[in-house]
This record gives sequence, structure tokens and C-alpha cells, in this order.
Amino acid sequence: MYEAVIGLEVHAHLLTRTKMFCGCSTAFGARPNTQVCPVCLGLPGALPVLNRQAVDCAIKASLALGCRVETESVFARKNYFYPDLPKGYQISQYERPLAVAGGLTLGDATHVRITRVHLEEDAGKSLHEGLADSAIKTGVDFNRSGVPLIEIVSEPDLRSAAQAAGFFSELRAILVWIGVNDGNMEEGSLRCDANVSVRPAGQSSLGTKTEVKNLNSFRHVEKALTYEIERQIEVVRGGGRVRQETRLWDGASGRTQPMRSKEDAQDYRYFPEPDLPPLVVDAARIEALGAALPELPAARRERFVAAHGLPPYDAGVLTQSAGLADYFERTAAAAGNAKAASNWIMGELLGMLNDRHATVETAPIAPDALGGLIALIDRGTISSAMAKDVFARMYDTGQSAAAIVEAEGLAQIGDADEVAALVDRVVAANTPVVAEYRDGKRQVFGFLVGQVMKASGGRVNPKLANERLRAVLDRDGDVAVTPGTAQR
Ligand code: ADP
Ligand code: ZN
Ligand code: MG
Repeated sequence: MYEAVIGLEVHAHLLTRTKMFCGCSTAFGARPNTQVCPVCLGLPGALPVLNRQAVDCAIKASLALGCRVETESVFARKNYFYPDLPKGYQISQYERPLAVAGGLTLGDATHVRITRVHLEEDAGKSLHEGLADSAIKTGVDFNRSGVPLIEIVSEPDLRSAAQAAGFFSELRAILVWIGVNDGNMEEGSLRCDANVSVRPAGQSSLGTKTEVKNLNSFRHVEKALTYEIERQIEVVRGGGRVRQETRLWDGASGRTQPMRSKEDAQDYRYFPEPDLPPLVVDAARIEALGAALPELPAARRERFVAAHGLPPYDAGVLTQSAGLADYFERTAAAAGNAKAASNWIMGELLGMLNDRHATVETAPIAPDALGGLIALIDRGTISSAMAKDVFARMYDTGQSAAAIVEAEGLAQIGDADEVAALVDRVVAANTPVVAEYRDGKRQVFGFLVGQVMKASGGRVNPKLANERLRAVLDRDGDVAVTPGTAQR
């Protein structure tokens, strides 16, 4: 039996308006090379000026990941040649990162230690498609050059492909939740390199790892690691040795391919960035940023269970995003019934939003309005079945539940005299069936209830109809006693 050992390195764009060391926009999707200046193009003599907002975002992320933020960290040059890197180096942090020693506990209770969080700038992008002669030409877009990033490095604490994907997903949820990343993986705002090795179960030393580059979806992380773990196990089983190398995931073929081996690994010749002083953040700023953090998903999940009495499953679903969690809390407060609020949101609301490609932020039913609907059900004004129709009307018209119920006369018939009149009508119109009941054929009761329901257009309060019908049937006739039927 072999065990997989995995550690992730996650790159996350920081949600700043401008780049890390210049005032150029970070907006995604602009025409190539329209958001550039001498600094992010690396022109000689241009000097970097650090973006304070980027530092604040990085500190928030570090604190949310339980890291210790250092009051002094150092920028370093990571030197390498690539067409998308005009300066010939990337400004990063190396020996003295912004934050260290954090951790994250997953849903399955696995604790994943976080080694470090450091600041760096993104590189540009090579473009191969859409060029007239793409066989010999590569375009370069420098709009992304200098966009602020954090790199989050985990310890090798993950043990399966699915767990690694789960960790990546949890990281994304936290970063989006605290507003430092937009979570947009298709646009490259969040990317992951996965390091993986295998070892015989029970062995404590680590095997030789490979690094799988540039995984930009949870599915790719899981698939690439599943493939790579299998591949390594086969190598080891066959008496071979895993080569320490960097590999590329090819989604189309579902395989990883060697990219470069350890021997041709680059020497980045890191050295402290001479154009930037050490990054000094005072303890008060770190503390203030920490104090301003919202309640994190895990804490909120626990509170939904403890304070609102929700099942852990519900709490997990409702804390998928801060917006959804807020929506739930406001609905629960308005309804005065947390479990019903959870059921309506997880069932009807999320279903409808999914059908209409909408999000909870743009839902045409406000939390107070959904709470109002739930309160009408709890008060017995409308039945649950009726409420589903009312919900659909609310979604399409933006009207309140009370207004729809009023306008369409949907309120349940709960008035004793009205119920009695309905029952009398049905009893009078079904004398043969009533006689059968009174002869002991109790099964026909359900049919008679159905008739009362029908006569009311589905609006009679079922409990009251039942009680009244039973009373009338048992009162006015001689009730035959058949075996198995208790006498009253
Ligand atoms: P490198 O020197 O190749 O950069 P590091 O020790 O800095 O390696 O680790 C980089 C990432 O690889 C980290 O996420 C770490 O947890 C992970 N890692 C390190 N060694 C192993 C291993 N033997 N198996 C799996 N992952 C590993
Ligand atoms: Zn610029
Ligand atoms: Mg390293």
C-alpha cells in the first residue's frame, strides 16, 4: 500500500485597483498592452513604489489563514529569462516572507499547516492564439505584468487528490469571503502548483516529489494529482525511482508531462531588491486589519449549528459564500424559524437562482420577504404546498407574500364556521360514502377529506378539515365496530 503526500503552492491575485508597484489598472480583459507604464514594462531607470492596498490585502489573507505576520519582511529579486518578464526578474519575497506558520482545518478535521505567505508581482502573458503566423510568432501582453499576488505555501500535509482539491477550494472560499481575491479561476486570479510524492504506508520519511504546474480548477487539481499519484506508484512498484521534476498537466489528454528535471532547474539567484526598502508594518496596523476581518466561514459554520440549531450539512451549504450566509441570517431573523429558512434557501431559492443563472446578491426576493412567506406558513395562513406557488410569484413579481395571498385569495380557510359549512356540504353530497364509513369502512375517510379539500379549492386548513369531518361522521351516525377498530 502506498500513501500520497501533497503540498500546494497557491497564487492568488489581490483585489487592488492598481498594480503592485505602479498606478496601472489591474482590470482583467482590456486590450493587450493598454494597462502598462515604464515601471511594469521594466524600462531602465523606472522605480517601483509599493501599493499599500496590496500589503493590507496580503496581511488580511495571512491573518485569516492563521499566520504570524512579520513586522519586517524583505523583497527579493527572482531572476530568470522569459519573454513575459521584461525586467528579467520578478520582485518577490524569499528568505523573509510577509507571514509564516499558519494553518487551516478542513471539513474532515485534517489540519493543513501553512508554511508561508509572501507578496510578489505577476508576470505578463504570452499569447499564441489569434496571431497571423502563430507557428513562429508569440505575442506578449503586459497588462498582467505587475499585478499583485500572494503565494500561499502549504506543508506536505495533504494525503489524497480529493483532499488537495478540498483544501484549494477552502482557500478560495476564505480569500473571496474576506474580499482579497475575486475567486475567478478562469481568468487566472487563482492558480495552483501541486507538489506530490508517494511512499509506502507507514514510512515517515518523504519520497521524491514532482511538481505539477498551473492548475486552474479544483477538478484539474484532483484529476492531475490522481493521475500523477498512479504514475508514481507504478514507477516505484516496477522497481524504478521517481525523478524529481516539474511536470505540466494536460487536461486534453488527462496526463502530466515532464517539463524540466531537477538538473535543469533554474538558479534564480535571489538577492534583496535594491530598489525597495524592507517592508515594515507596525503591530497596530496588523492588529487593526485583524480586528476588521469578518467572521470566517469555519467560525460561522459552527455558529449556525450552535446558535441556530442547524444540522452541520445545512451550515456547510449556507456558508459557501458570505452573501449566502448573510441572506440566511436575515431570513431566519425575519421568519423567526431558522430551520425553515434554511430549507427554503437550500431548496426553493438556490434551485430557482440556479435555473435563472442568478446569484443570491441579485435575487428578486429579499431575505425579509422570504422570512415573511415562512411566517405565513407557520401561522397557518397558507399551506406549504400553496407557499411554493406563492414563492414562484414572489420571484417573478417582486411582491410580498402577504400581497400575493391577499390579491389572489389564497389564504387558508381556517375559520371554524367556514370549515363546518364545507364539511356539511361534502357530507350531504356523498351520502353513500358516508354510510360506508359509518358501517365501519374507515378507509373512505381519506376520500372524504379529499372532497373537502377540493370543494375549498385546496385552501382549507387540512388539520381543521380533518377534525371537523371526523367529528361530524362520528357524531351523527351509529358507528359499527369492526374487528381491529377501537370503539370510542
Ligand atoms: P522546493 O525546494 O522544491 O521549492 P519546498 O520544500 O520549498 O520545495 O516545498 C515546496 C512545496 O512542496 C511545499 O508546498 C511543500 O509542502 C511541498 N513538498 C515538499 N516536499 C514534498 C514531498 N516530498 N512530497 C510532497 N510535497 C512536498
Ligand atoms: Zn504600470
Ligand atoms: Mg521552495
